[in-house]
This record gives sequence, structure tokens and C-alpha cells, in this order.
Amino acid sequence: MKIQKFAAIIAVVLFSSFWMNSAIAQSNSESIILLNARLIDGNGDTPKENVSILIQDGIIKTISDTPISSKTTRVIDVAGKTVMPGLADMHIHITSSWDGDGFNLLGYKEQLNAMLYAGVTQIHQEIESGRLSGPQFLYLGPLVDGPDPNWPDISYSLASQTQASRIVNHLHKSGVHGVKAYGGLSSPEVRSLIHAAREVDLPVFVDLWVRIGAEHIITSGLRGLAHPPRRVTPEILTTMKQRDVYVMTTLSGYESILRFKERGLLDNPLIDSTIAPERLSRMRAVAGEDLTDGEKEEYGWRREFLDQMMDHIRQVHEAGIPVVAGTDGPTKGVFLGEGLHRELELLVEAGLTPLEAISAATRNGAMMMKAEDEWGTIEAGKRADLLVIDGRPDQTISDTRNIVTVIQAGRLIDRNDLKSRVIDSKDVHDFVPTEN
Ligand SMILES: [Zn+2]
Repeated sequence: MKIQKFAAIIAVVLFSSFWMNSAIAQSNSESIILLNARLIDGNGDTPKENVSILIQDGIIKTISDTPISSKTTRVIDVAGKTVMPGLADMHIHITSSWDGDGFNLLGYKEQLNAMLYAGVTQIHQEIESGRLSGPQFLYLGPLVDGPDPNWPDISYSLASQTQASRIVNHLHKSGVHGVKAYGGLSSPEVRSLIHAAREVDLPVFVDLWVRIGAEHIITSGLRGLAHPPRRVTPEILTTMKQRDVYVMTTLSGYESILRFKERGLLDNPLIDSTIAPERLSRMRAVAGEDLTDGEKEEYGWRREFLDQMMDHIRQVHEAGIPVVAGTDGPTKGVFLGEGLHRELELLVEAGLTPLEAISAATRNGAMMMKAEDEWGTIEAGKRADLLVIDGRPDQTISDTRNIVTVIQAGRLIDRNDLKSRVIDSKDVHDFVPTEN
């Protein structure tokens, strides 16, 4: 099935965990004490009340039931508010964004800001060096597909198993965090890729795409599926569980245009605070147009497909297989940053509890990357990526949208600064490629 024609244009970097880095990176993080927090730690446990958290050197040092006091440390009283881990969007395409009538391939700066603004939080390379602000990202590089790739411009083509280790070694030297195997590969080719990737300790993520019936690939040693499985049977679920396969959710990606023409969507504060006004007005114009016949048809199959995928996510989750939140954004109707909050809502609609949905967007992503010792939960020794939320996201999942404060690696993010820089930026939408 055609997932989205737009993906052809945008998919280059495929999967990111976003923890937000400081807007303008400060070289040293200050010590911070959060007092009187309601703590959602990301492990799915009942929130704890009146918790104090000491953050030092970018790390969560102490979590205490009794107030921590210090004369020299900055103290923030968060009484009545909820503290939860920074969010991770584990399936995105960072290179461009749909802007109403085309793709803005130079829009990554805007996207990095938008994600940080919305509480998505991690950094790497350019970002870590302080030259760029934004979340850290974990990236997969080009897709590895068969001889006739689905997205030729962004794929490496593998025509023989013998090429697997050369491609994997090349990706490894490029510094990727994993390999994405695509639906045009034969099962033996996927196995060869996984074998080669294991040699250099890289996880492989598979997009089975149209290959319904290719479920035996889940026995091949892959780390995760980039989307929910298209077919679910008790046998498939048992095998996935036994093989420790993770499943990325991408429900908001499936919803996409179903949501785009919703009245008021573009006035959402996480969207209109993070997109340049000119681009937003182009989008508004498109959103206000009547549905074309093609769109009406698409609405029909997308609704049915989304319902089916939500049911599959529910079954996967109930089978004890970890689901990992990812949006597959940005596309029409999926906005980086805001989209992850929508993903959480769809996960709850699919049958997860709010706390389970939060774990899917925090702890589970870290587990999938075998980085759970470093990030993903609020526990002593972990990196201090935290959000202060006005509300009870453990009860009402959409409360995650009410972000008061973003702390990334121990740094307080200036969200107003991010907002003004997005609005001031004139250079993010100059280049609009034609679609073919
Ligand atoms: Zn994708």
C-alpha cells in the first residue's frame, strides 16, 4: 500500500530520538533543584507526589521524598505540576517539511526548534558541538533496499547478499546508529544485512512495507519494525515476543491528512509557535480548500487503515511486546514536535493507558537503542532530560501538551527564545522544490 507519496521526497534521515538540546547551547549546565514535583518517571508506575529532584552536571543526581535544600543551587518550586522525562520521537524524517504546496528541504532548523519547543529532547554532532540548537538525533542514513528501490533518491540498492557487508561497513563508518532495511529486499538479503550489522554492533530496523506474508523476517535477528505489523496472529506475536522485536507505532503518520483539515488544527500553540508565519498561511490556505475527489478516496482508506493499525498496536502491546512512539513526520498533517503529542493521544485511543503511552515515548525508545542506562526515565544517574507539565498526563494524556519547562541534559531551555527565532527566521523557506 502506498503510505504517502510525500515520503519519497523527504525520507533521508529516518529515525530520530529527540531530546531537546538547549536553544543557544550554554557550555555549562547549572545545578537545579525541582521541589514538590508529581513525578512520572517513565517506568509506568503510579506517579509519586511531593518529590524533590537535584540536577547537577547534566545528570539527575538525587530523587528524594523529602525536600532537598541548598543555598547555592537554583530552586524551582513545581508544586501542583507534573515532572516527566523528555520525549523521544523514534521515527522521523528530518530533512524537509511539507509547507502547504511543496517541501521545504532547508527546513531542518525550524524542525529542530519545533521539536525542542514541544518537549522532544537529545543531541549529536553539530548540535552537541553547540553550532546548532535542537534535539539530539539518532540516525539511520539512507534506506537499504532492493535493486529497484521504492525511494531511489534516498536509498542504497542491494542486488546481492555479497554486497551486504560493504554497505553496512560504509554506513557504520558514516556514524549511523542503526540500519534501515526496506521492503524490496528478499528475506535472505535482510538476513545478510542483519548478519553484517551484528559484526559492527548496529541494530537493524525493517520496514516490511507491502510485504504482507513476510513475517518470517521477524526471526532474522532484527531489532525492530519501523511500523506496526500489517498482519497479526497469535504465532506472530509469540515469535516477536520471544525475539525481542520492538515495534514503532507511527499512528499519527497514518492519520496525517485525516487531521490536516480539522478546524483549528493550525492554531494549535505547538504548531503556530514553531512555524514561520508565511509558511503557516500557505498551509492555512490549503487546509481551507474543499476536498478533492482523490482526497475523499484517500480519507476512506486511511480511516480504515488507521483503525486497523491501532488495533494491531493494541494487540502487540497486550502481548507484552514493547511499542515505541514514532510519528513518521513531517508530512501533511504531521508536525514535528506537536505530532508526538498526537501520537500519544492515538496510543491511548488504541488502548494503552496514559502512563503506558508515556513509557512508549520515553523509556521504550531508550531500551530499543540499548541506551536505557543513559536516558528515557527519571532516575538517579540518568541524563537530566525532563519536562515540567501543567496538568495530569497520567490521567489526561493530552496534558503533555501543556509544557511549562523543558530541561535538556540539565539545561533550562528558553522556549520563548526558540519561538522568536522561528518567527524571525527568513531563511527557512526560500527553496521550494517541485513535486513530480
Ligand atoms: Zn518513515
